[in-house]
Amino acid sequence: MSTAKRRFQPTTGVLLVNAGELLTLHRSDKPGPRRGPDLKNLGIVKDGAVLCVGGKIVCVGTTKDALRDRWLKRNRGRVMEIDCVGKVVLPGFVDSHTHPVFVSPRLVDFEKRIEGASYEQIAVAGGGIRSSLEAVRKTAKNALAAKVFTALAEMADHGTTTVEAKSGYGLTVESELKSLEAIRAAASRWPGTVVATLLGAHVVPKEFEGCSQKYVEIVCTEMIPRVARRKLAQFVDVFCDKGAFTPEETAQIFAAAERHGLSVRAHMGQLSQTFLEPFLRFSPASFDHMDHVNDDDIQKLATRDTVATLVPGANYFLGLKEYPKARRLIDAGVPLALATDYNPGTSPTISMPMAMSLACTHMKMSPAEAVTAATINGAWSLQVADRKGSIAAGKDADLAVFDVKDYREIAYWFGSNRCVMTVLNGVVTSGN
Ligand SMILES: [Zn+2]
Repeated sequence: MSTAKRRFQPTTGVLLVNAGELLTLHRSDKPGPRRGPDLKNLGIVKDGAVLCVGGKIVCVGTTKDALRDRWLKRNRGRVMEIDCVGKVVLPGFVDSHTHPVFVSPRLVDFEKRIEGASYEQIAVAGGGIRSSLEAVRKTAKNALAAKVFTALAEMADHGTTTVEAKSGYGLTVESELKSLEAIRAAASRWPGTVVATLLGAHVVPKEFEGCSQKYVEIVCTEMIPRVARRKLAQFVDVFCDKGAFTPEETAQIFAAAERHGLSVRAHMGQLSQTFLEPFLRFSPASFDHMDHVNDDDIQKLATRDTVATLVPGANYFLGLKEYPKARRLIDAGVPLALATDYNPGTSPTISMPMAMSLACTHMKMSPAEAVTAATINGAWSLQVADRKGSIAAGKDADLAVFDVKDYREIAYWFGSNRCVMTVLNGVVTSGN
């Protein structure tokens, strides 16, 4: 069945039984995102079962325990029962960093970069972020929404049930609002959960070259207030780096977000090192990329709930030899999440298992650490950990079923999709 056309099936109850491994990620003792040795604690139940009713998880345990559930005994005939023998069931992935509102792949960039062209040469050849801007500005909201929906459906096929989706390829007030409306329209048709982010401060658009402060004013006094008033986003993101926005501009945008009741997150340390300390007073939900970060800042992050979100797909696709120093962050006690950074320029993948595979091979994270970073810690970075990212009674019924016997295979079989079923807020979908 094609991804775009597949229908999602609503059900009242879903019972997954006989799972070879059920990764609950459940832990009731310590609050906050997982860090250090805790990243390896997956809460595995052998021969596991999960009962979901009305979009919520109501019962988790062994298959034997689940079949004793009193409600289930009376209602078994009304429940969709799924045999997961020989399979792994885990919380649906939380992809906490994506840029899905774009029109076309950036093939000029791809080819020119392979030939060794610089960023400037790529722009001259008609590639670069500005080629994405032109198309998004010209394209109607419904057409953008269709693009976003296709990506969401494909993500679900690969086990993702919660997605953070950023605007950021419009960079005018109208086209940023249009991008967020497109995200909202796509999300309303998708049974999973979408958390929207305004990334009006992605780059300084050409019209404001040499006067970035004027553009920052527009972000602060027009985009943020309008987005907040219409509740089009939960977060404001800034690309803080050389060639994008300065730390001072970033703090100014964060302050505007705070005034309007929006939480903040930022692209930090991708190309160069920025001191994080000045931003901590805004309690950012996440600093993303983090290729360049100093030891002092690492120590400070270790005492906070701000999550470091690593996106190794970007390093891979840009052909970089260096990857973020995940071990340094983990050993210091910084909570880590993994995300795809799905975008047309530097990380055109929707696959969380691919991001996990790269985390294992290039950042030396263990397969267990990768699972935690791709589920519960992603949920923390989106401030939805009370509902998402682990399998526990009362949480949203978001599950992924992989046709593998051992969870370590999820990151092992790179480049192939072993996800056979996803449950999104109780709605069962199967790509295969
Ligand atoms: Zn990004």
